[in-house]
Amino acid sequence: MTTALTTTSTATPALTQLDRCDRCSAAAKVRALLPTDGELLFCGHHARMHLPRLREIGATLSSGP
Ligand SMILES: [Zn+2]
Repeated sequence: MTTALTTTSTATPALTQLDRCDRCSAAAKVRALLPTDGELLFCGHHARMHLPRLREIGATLSSGP
């Protein structure tokens, strides 16, 4: 296992190779849906880095295919 993220199945579209991390432009692995209707994409590295904060604000995380 390379990730400790808890993923949630949602109706959001699957991530593709065209989706990029909002922080470093690497391929996005995790989509974070914010309670405020916002959406952030993260690579594995940045997803782990921001996970505590995302959980704190109630974001819903979903991983790609
Ligand atoms: Zn990144």
